[in-house]
Amino acid sequence: MPSTVDCYNDAALEMQRLIKEALDNNHGFRAYGSRWSMSSIAHNKDRMHYNAYMNLSFPILPQDMHSNTGYNSTNLYFFQCGNTVKEISQVFEKNGKSLKVSGASNGQTIAGCISTGVHGSALNEGSVQDHVVGINLIIGPNPEDIVYLERHTKPALNNAFAHKFNARVIRNDGLFNAALVSLGSFGFIHGVVVEGEDLYLLKRYVRKIDKNVALKLSETMDFKNTDFKIEGETDVNGKGNTPYHYKVFINPYIDDGKYVVELMYKKPYQSSYPDPFTTIDKSLYRDVIHLLIQISRKFPKSIPWFIKKLQKQILPDVNEESLGTLYETFWDAPYKGPAFACSFGVDVKDCARTLEVLVDLTKKEGPIPGIYAMRFIKKSEATLSFAKFSTTCMIEIDGVLWKKSKKLIGLEEFSKRMIEVLQQNNIPFTIHWGKNSSWDFPDLVACMYGDKAKEWKSYRSALLSKEMQTLFSNDFLEHIGLSENESDIPEDLIVSL
Ligand SMILES: Cc1cc2nc3c(=O)[nH]c(=O)nc-3n(C[C@H](O)[C@H](O)[C@H](O)COP(=O)(O)OP(=O)(O)OC[C@H]3O[C@@H](n4cnc5c(N)ncnc54)[C@H](O)[C@@H]3O)c2cc1C
Repeated sequence: MPSTVDCYNDAALEMQRLIKEALDNNHGFRAYGSRWSMSSIAHNKDRMHYNAYMNLSFPILPQDMHSNTGYNSTNLYFFQCGNTVKEISQVFEKNGKSLKVSGASNGQTIAGCISTGVHGSALNEGSVQDHVVGINLIIGPNPEDIVYLERHTKPALNNAFAHKFNARVIRNDGLFNAALVSLGSFGFIHGVVVEGEDLYLLKRYVRKIDKNVALKLSETMDFKNTDFKIEGETDVNGKGNTPYHYKVFINPYIDDGKYVVELMYKKPYQSSYPDPFTTIDKSLYRDVIHLLIQISRKFPKSIPWFIKKLQKQILPDVNEESLGTLYETFWDAPYKGPAFACSFGVDVKDCARTLEVLVDLTKKEGPIPGIYAMRFIKKSEATLSFAKFSTTCMIEIDGVLWKKSKKLIGLEEFSKRMIEVLQQNNIPFTIHWGKNSSWDFPDLVACMYGDKAKEWKSYRSALLSKEMQTLFSNDFLEHIGLSENESDIPEDLIVSL
């Protein structure tokens, strides 16, 4: 049997062969994972590579660590790109560890997650990419085109480890941060080093509370000075503890003065606790799309009829609790049918105003078969992360796909209107790279990222040859204006520091 490292290196050679073949045929080349993205970011008309079977993993040993590292080797694992969040959680759990954060379910691949910036609602933990500390890229068909990137200010592994994969090492914060949320366009991500932590449990509560209290918590994240308290989740002075996770669910068509909120608090791991699946499996409030589908199941399949019901349906009352690991809590996606999901990132201080503007639009120019949720993410260091505010509120509208008709606005038009009303109200925003939007909207990336877009393109142009920039581009990148080569690049931009 070849060793795991040999298998990994064989795969790298095969990827280089495929890249060469695409290059020789003047074709584009795009890798994809679980294809859960709803934008066309995971598409190329010429050649696509399905990575889900590239799921090798390696533990990191003390002798693999960089001499100046601040990381603990037992928390680090090297994962090949096609490992799903579920597979990663299983590897971590076998070793008494856990991911620090995931999305609401577990089917995405690690490379897909970081390429689009997948997030949950862990207030102080950031997004999935924020826990990646090393990236192994294949940026062309030649031997020097296998590179291993780290931040120079936070080195993790030593050069000897990277040399096992025949990789050239570049430690450079700017390059690393640009390659982290790469939109699939910084070369083929072959493997990444992920930092986890000791296994923990999440105590989850779902409650229906006064909507103004829910919004105040969203805007301020001040869980101490609020009247809303959960028994047992307070400090010695009786003040509320800050949860690990906070999420708000909103039906735009009903105002009963209340919102459903989901909160989770981190607890030390213990081996015996009640089976969480009896609650998690039955819970409506696992994901917005799940909630919507569960509501829609009660009604005939006609969208107009369903929307009418949505206009009468108050979000079900709930008083739910469960205890489980992150792996058990953010479990398999229960729905795999046609769906849409739009998701805007705004500064938390703007979240109530943004919600009002978007709900107003939905009522006036809709209806559409979707409901809203708000999740919260700490700022990411990735150059093009949509979590760009100190704390970003992701306002999401998810629902079942519908057909435009005389009475129903189309998704494309509605997406465009959402951008327009945010701009008219001077609300700075970003958009989730893997979700539906009017991606052709003029100057969209410039309005969202300003100079950061040029910075990202400069690092991409410094790392990839012109030919490889074209090969790893696609229609999505071209439409949003991020595919062009930047020519005016400082010579030392991507030197290893
Ligand atoms: C049911 C469902 C639930 C979701 N829940 C969440 C959620 O909770 N939070 C959230 O943030 N998002 C969520 N999303 C959106 C989705 O998770 C993201 O869009 C994510 O990127 C999908 O991962 P994937 O493995 O399917 O990647 P894909 O969609 O296959 O690809 C995404 C991008 O990664 C690139 N890529 C993939 N592999 C490689 C590689 N090896 N090298 C270079 N580029 C690569 C692709 O080219 C593409 O640009 C959800 C989507 C669905 C359908």
